[in-house]
Amino acid sequence: MSPKNKALTIKRGKIIFVSGPSGVGKGTLINALRERHLDWVFPPSCTTRKPRPGEKEGETYYFIDKDDFDKKIEAGDFLEYAIVHGGNRYGTLKKPLLDPIKEGKTVVREFDVQGFTQAREILDRADYVSIFLMPAESLDILAQRIRDRAPITDTELEKRMESVQKEVAKAPIYDHILKSYDGEIERLIVDAEAIIASYQ
Ligand code: 5GP
Repeated sequence: MSPKNKALTIKRGKIIFVSGPSGVGKGTLINALRERHLDWVFPPSCTTRKPRPGEKEGETYYFIDKDDFDKKIEAGDFLEYAIVHGGNRYGTLKKPLLDPIKEGKTVVREFDVQGFTQAREILDRADYVSIFLMPAESLDILAQRIRDRAPITDTELEKRMESVQKEVAKAPIYDHILKSYDGEIERLIVDAEAIIASYQ
């Protein structure tokens, strides 16, 4: 088979977007998938904030300055970008998401609901699958989990829970709604893997 024909036989991969309210187990799920699937790609974002101790270039973020960030905006390199608290900029590069799927790879990307809403406007519908992690129990349990994770004032928690409500209301725009049961992270991982496998 000529190299040209061989390239034609590669099945295009998918970008798997994972969203869900804070405390639902998103971070734990993504970390588990990263450990269990070494052939999957977990692309970093770009940020203008300074690296924190222990953060390595190109792992969670590419650390760039404001000028470089502006150049990338002008060049159309970002799928989406936002100015987050403290004035730091964060952006998702198109290339690290799209290049691997051309090679048939699975790309997994955590996204807040707003970021996903922007991304889906731009991407080819066939290129991505979206999963929303939904707390299986009452939101009180989620609030308790957020409270247990780090110290938080009642006012902050109230604000956090308001955005949880807004995010949960957007769940129907996702391809899959995956229930996250309290204390059953292994079940969440297995269920997410089953959804992803059905597209591979
Ligand atoms: P941190 O500086 O603590 O790593 O992240 C701060 C915030 O930036 C988090 O809420 C995170 O979700 C958001 N963030 C990280 N990467 C991106 C990105 O590529 N795009 C957008 N819109 N937000 C991001």
